[in-house]
Amino acid sequence: MKNNNITELFQPAHTLIGQGSIKEIPRFMNSAGVHKALVVTDKGLQKLGTVKLVADVLDDNNVPYVVYDKVEPNPSVRIVNEAFDLYKKESADFLVAIGGGSPIDVAKAVSILATNGGDIRDYCGVAKSSKPGAPIIAINTTAGTGSEVTRAYVVTDEEKKIKMVMVDNNCMAFLAIDDPDLMVGMPPALTAATGMDALTHAVEAFLCNVHTPFSDGAAIEAIRLVSKSLRRATDYGRDIQARTDMCWAEYLAGLAFSNSGLGLVHAIAHQLGGMYHTPHGVANAILLPFVMEFNLPYRTARIARIGHAWFDDDTEGLADVEAAKHAIENIRKLSKDIKIPHLCDTPFDPKDVPVMAENALKDATAANNYVKATKQDVEAILMNAYTWGIAEKVKDEIKNL
Ligand SMILES: [Zn+2]
Repeated sequence: MKNNNITELFQPAHTLIGQGSIKEIPRFMNSAGVHKALVVTDKGLQKLGTVKLVADVLDDNNVPYVVYDKVEPNPSVRIVNEAFDLYKKESADFLVAIGGGSPIDVAKAVSILATNGGDIRDYCGVAKSSKPGAPIIAINTTAGTGSEVTRAYVVTDEEKKIKMVMVDNNCMAFLAIDDPDLMVGMPPALTAATGMDALTHAVEAFLCNVHTPFSDGAAIEAIRLVSKSLRRATDYGRDIQARTDMCWAEYLAGLAFSNSGLGLVHAIAHQLGGMYHTPHGVANAILLPFVMEFNLPYRTARIARIGHAWFDDDTEGLADVEAAKHAIENIRKLSKDIKIPHLCDTPFDPKDVPVMAENALKDATAANNYVKATKQDVEAILMNAYTWGIAEKVKDEIKNL
């Protein structure tokens, strides 16, 4: 029986953060006792030259590998099977995932199949595998998803048209790498969106109903680092210090939510993603201040702590409710500065609000929001975000006359 006095923490066996981290891969291969890699990535990262940076390290150290670069966003069962077939055919015995969430998710799926067999659909749910997966070296290329840190992955079942969420300790990365050299080529819009995803992970982990001292510490420092460096990482992509700060921020935010939970921002953002393919980080950034306002009466002291953690704002001596308002306004200002679009600039259509509200409440992340929301609450959050964006645009147009 589960003892509620004990908290189990989940994190990769090893982590490297900082410039030049990828050069250390061979050292960790030896300790894992592995020989041949399946490199899992996508065509975009091939073209950008990111895969070559890692391939050069493997070549220099005579590590045999084969590359699977056909991962697509929202990877399907077909993609997982294709990658796994190549893994078997080439007698690989570990995985090197290079990418944002999608390639790392595919590597997690292949890792589980490699040691547990069967069909990936068998593993939908929590802790469905019985054996540790094949070792994964997860090399993160976007400072956002936290996929290199977490024990979750998502695979789309195209036949049933559903996203299967797997939560499984056996797919944790053996080695997680956040190397800013691999992130300097990220375009500003992607830097902004993935950075806001990291901020949302930290804020939701800090405000949710299952946080711990471990997740709190990681979350609040992640928030401070995003407030300090996301603007600079977006505007000056080659600034290694800003990129390194964002590596730390996204890693800490990933640790925080992986060891606590998320909340209503993600529950609603998943609907915008499902309905209109709104990029995950953009959807989160749009919704975050409005969900914080919804949570404010019940989470005033905690939102105030977010205000106090903000890098360039002096909130000393303010009452909690005032410091909390600073937190929300600072996040709005950050989104504006890094040019996150308004909800009215996305394919969002108000007529879909009732369906999205209903589905958001069924999303697993909604259960971890500190306050239980009603369908009307979610509808109001979406419509507030929508009308606020329209008003902001009008204000900006008047200013530019
Ligand atoms: Zn997220």
